[in-house]
Amino acid sequence: MSVVLIAEDEQGALELISEVVEQLGHQVLRTRDGEEALVLARAHTPALIISDYMMPRRSGLSLLRELRQDPSSPLAQIPFLLMSAAQPKGAEAANLFLTKPVQIEEMERAIRKLLDSRTVPEAVKGLPGTGPVSSPSQPDTHLRDELLNWVAHEIRTPLNAARMSAELVLRRTPNDDEIEKRIKLIVRQLDHMERLLRSILEAARLADGKIEVQPESHDLAEFVQGTVTLWRELQPGYQLEFTSPQDPLVVRMDPQRIRQILDNLLSNAVKYGLPSKRIVIEIGSSPAFVSVKVIDFGPGIPASEIPRLFDRFYQVERSGRGHGLGLYISASLARLHGGTLSAASVLGQGSTFTLMLPRRS
Ligand code: ADP
Repeated sequence: MSVVLIAEDEQGALELISEVVEQLGHQVLRTRDGEEALVLARAHTPALIISDYMMPRRSGLSLLRELRQDPSSPLAQIPFLLMSAAQPKGAEAANLFLTKPVQIEEMERAIRKLLDSRTVPEAVKGLPGTGPVSSPSQPDTHLRDELLNWVAHEIRTPLNAARMSAELVLRRTPNDDEIEKRIKLIVRQLDHMERLLRSILEAARLADGKIEVQPESHDLAEFVQGTVTLWRELQPGYQLEFTSPQDPLVVRMDPQRIRQILDNLLSNAVKYGLPSKRIVIEIGSSPAFVSVKVIDFGPGIPASEIPRLFDRFYQVERSGRGHGLGLYISASLARLHGGTLSAASVLGQGSTFTLMLPRRS
């Protein structure tokens, strides 16, 4: 049994993390205040510190810096698990960084790992779906950034706590199909809200030109095929057909971002292509461009709607299945690659979305 210090300002999240740590058989010291966390760490030298980033009086990072100030002190050796909705600058100083919302199993794995291999530094995990910021905030966007980040934090913390609670209830009520069904629905809704929050933040950063792509050379056809294979596993009820020319088609692309575009197009084809469950993914090339077409055989989109599809928050129908940011983000990411994203559709026959990327010169 080890002593674990947990610093988290949100009461619900604090209780849940404590429960997870106690269930792993450890003793918990808890606080909702960064300054008090420092006092407790000095008094007890815990085996592990789990800390939120935003806390009253002292942030998680400031706590970490204070503890690491004197490298010869035992306090400097305490493994530090930092958790936050967005990865703050300097987070790499922590042994491990987890992006909220954190799933219980992910947290359990992190705790075990850090307690087993004290002091071995871990690579910092990036915030999924975000890229490096290209320049400091412009004065006119500074306040909005601050507000958005504040809202994201304030919403994410209770969302995270609610999700973890739901997972714990699910674990404790085995063999009850009705409860299981309802809790899974709650988790899906909470995940939907989390995705929406992430998309809003990302759309704002894209609109401000604050996202940069990090291009590497890749064979696009091979990359797309990998994504299609994953989607076949994810959606076994669908028929995903992939066609591509034989030759390698090398492009400069940021794999994480291209994956994001493909995921959006494939998820739209799955959602909006019904009742047809056939989706064709076609790679093509011209001297200047390489293209990926995602074709579905669903009801299609009226011609008058096509020009607005890539606008922020635009939805042809408010079906509750999406939030109207996916195509805006995807088209912006395509442009950052020097490419384009376009749509064509015939009512009653289906839709084709085409991503074009410049060929490597
Ligand atoms: P979301 O799916 O989250 O609403 P998107 O920006 O990805 O956001 O899509 C915007 C809208 O475009 C969707 O709400 C839907 O009405 C329409 N749409 C997107 N893809 C398709 C498709 N393959 N077939 C028919 N409609 C589509």
